[in-house]
Amino acid sequence: MIYDIAIIGAGPRGLSAAVYGQRAGLSTINFEANVHGGQIINTPEVENYPAMERMSGVEFAMNLYNQAVDFGATIQYEGVTSVELEGDIKKIRTDFGEYEAKTVIIATGVTRRKLEIPGEDTMIGRGVSYCATCDGSFFKDKVAVVVGGGNTALEDAVYLTGLCTKVHLIHRRDEFRGVKHEVDKVLRNEKIEIHYNTIPLEILGKDKVNGLKVQNKVTGEESVIDTDAVFVAVGLIPHNELFEGQVALTPDGYIDADESCTTNVEGVFVAGDTRRKTLRQLVTAASDGAVAATAAYNYIQGK
Ligand SMILES: Cc1cc2nc3c(=O)[nH]c(=O)nc-3n(C[C@H](O)[C@H](O)[C@H](O)COP(=O)(O)OP(=O)(O)OC[C@H]3O[C@@H](n4cnc5c(N)ncnc54)[C@H](O)[C@@H]3O)c2cc1C
Repeated sequence: MIYDIAIIGAGPRGLSAAVYGQRAGLSTINFEANVHGGQIINTPEVENYPAMERMSGVEFAMNLYNQAVDFGATIQYEGVTSVELEGDIKKIRTDFGEYEAKTVIIATGVTRRKLEIPGEDTMIGRGVSYCATCDGSFFKDKVAVVVGGGNTALEDAVYLTGLCTKVHLIHRRDEFRGVKHEVDKVLRNEKIEIHYNTIPLEILGKDKVNGLKVQNKVTGEESVIDTDAVFVAVGLIPHNELFEGQVALTPDGYIDADESCTTNVEGVFVAGDTRRKTLRQLVTAASDGAVAATAAYNYIQGK
């Protein structure tokens, strides 16, 4: 069978694309290397999806999965190992077989880089977060730490000063890597205390975070910063290795496509966190899913 759309990934973005594809009367197949739902299954609470009451990330993923399957989507739990994207019929290979489709939507998402220090894994959802926009409001009027020195860390620190009483910014070097105007915003903000040349050693707390043990790299001195939250902003890893050499990527590894979700390869679309974009959230992932599936529909109609 030749599918109309092969969707690589069954996270929020891949499942949204399946909903829109199926409702447009197209045959779709999602390939998923792990469990459906993507990154959002790691969060205990989602409260910023418009018109939706608070729910856990797992509930969100299940609702979206059920919706896609109710409309007729096929979810194939096989990781994609290689693709051939040129030509009218695209080939998608997994460890179990080869599949064909008229269009491909890339929805492989990202992994958030971790600090790999004691306390990090056990405190996720209890004060450790990888997304200030997602979880900042849970720490209103509290103290937060942001770890990182690039643009995301700088933006997160400034964003959190709108909610928190104080924000500590921990950076391992003696200057920031971010763009000048983001650095200036941080330097001007009186609520931010910057700790240069400092590395995190351990996240402290029993049921929830109450501190971060750090070390000054120059003096070797260790100390504890009292805090309610540790926001980790040390980078994202886009899952785009499969597409290198076939689809245009940005220098930092994201698929180079704008809001039209259209790549440089005919019949290949992309959306969600793996695409070049400024805001990586459920609402933008879902929106991309709709845009990419509609673009795939228009492409097939135009053939
Ligand atoms: C802890 C946490 C909390 C968050 N909280 C919120 C929140 O409250 N509100 C909000 O709006 N956003 C939140 N986010 C962000 C949100 O989860 C992401 O923006 C969203 O999941 C992006 O969806 P996606 O489909 O693009 O990518 P992903 O969710 O990363 O899904 C990609 C999927 O593709 C699969 N995949 C990758 N490679 C392959 C392959 N080769 N073959 C087959 N499958 C593959 C992966 O297994 C994964 O399931 C949070 C993120 C995290 C990590």
